[in-house]
Amino acid sequence: MSANILDGTKIAQEIRSEIAAEVKTLSAAGLRPGLAVVLVGHNPASEIYVRGKVKACEELGIFSEKLAPSETATTAELLDVVDNLNRRDEIDGILVQLPLPSHVDAKKILLAVDPAKDVDGFHPMNVGFLSTQRPGLVPCTPAGCMEILKRSQIPVAGREAVVVGRSDIVGKPAAMLLINANATVTVCHSKTHDLPGVCRRADILVAAIGRAGMITKDFVKPGATVIDVGMNTITDRAEFDRFFAGNHKREDSFQKRGSTLIGDVHPEVAEIAGAITPVPGGVGPLTIAMLMFNTVKAAKMRRGNQVPALSHR
Ligand code: NAP
Repeated sequence: MSANILDGTKIAQEIRSEIAAEVKTLSAAGLRPGLAVVLVGHNPASEIYVRGKVKACEELGIFSEKLAPSETATTAELLDVVDNLNRRDEIDGILVQLPLPSHVDAKKILLAVDPAKDVDGFHPMNVGFLSTQRPGLVPCTPAGCMEILKRSQIPVAGREAVVVGRSDIVGKPAAMLLINANATVTVCHSKTHDLPGVCRRADILVAAIGRAGMITKDFVKPGATVIDVGMNTITDRAEFDRFFAGNHKREDSFQKRGSTLIGDVHPEVAEIAGAITPVPGGVGPLTIAMLMFNTVKAAKMRRGNQVPALSHR
């Protein structure tokens, strides 16, 4: 039996339509949400991500502004940039694109963002709100994982959830959201003993590791739901064959581009999982959708309004 494929592109589109309607109503009331994105220097991957975020704002009617301080900007200069954005009322969300150049104190910059405008949900104040179940801004990728579960009618309460990865931006907030949704949660990392055995306990397995295809069938209880957060690029032919031999669609795109994207979950897992997110087209599209959601949520919370009714707040 093969797994039900959880279509992240479709779910993200649903969320984006809901947000566009919300933005229309807010804008008509003179409260158009606004997002400022700070991109320091010329990191090619960051430039692509920022372009995607600005484009999403345009499509949904959200005001956006891109600030592009030079590669040589100092911590003090960037603190000034953030401080100005904190003061501007028409800016509801501030996103400082990571990574910052190595001479910049990134923690200091992120700490300077007004928590009410912290649409990445990385500020310790928002981390605290999440862990104490108070309304706040939740990191976009884990929030997107919860939306996939909710909108696919996959029950969470009372189930065993295992999260592999304990980063501040994915693993830990994903675990916290699952706890808040009444799952019984285990968090694994590189020092976990018998990782396959622990993962096999999971009704819901979240992989946020950063290692191509590491989660094989051995790690998965038949029928489990598998959420693959990983995004790894393969360029090596032998590695490609190890994962995708005989997959003609992948073969064509690998030939054309010289690379392909794979998650942290081996494609063979689709043979035994009950449901699984594909890569690409699973968790990825949700990340930008949830950034847009957070921008609207910030706009409403800053004005004391009710927040839209998505599941993870
Ligand atoms: P990260 O900060 O590098 O954290 C990786 C985590 O995986 C760490 O906690 C690490 O454990 C654990 N880990 C590494 N090797 C392991 C192993 N062999 N066994 C068990 N655990 C292991 O990565 P991240 O930022 O959380 O991102 C994880 C993945 O998600 C990456 O592929 C990233 O590209 C992807 N991602 C995707 C999106 C999206 O929009 N879809 C967004 C963000 C991230 P230790 O703590 O012990 O080192």
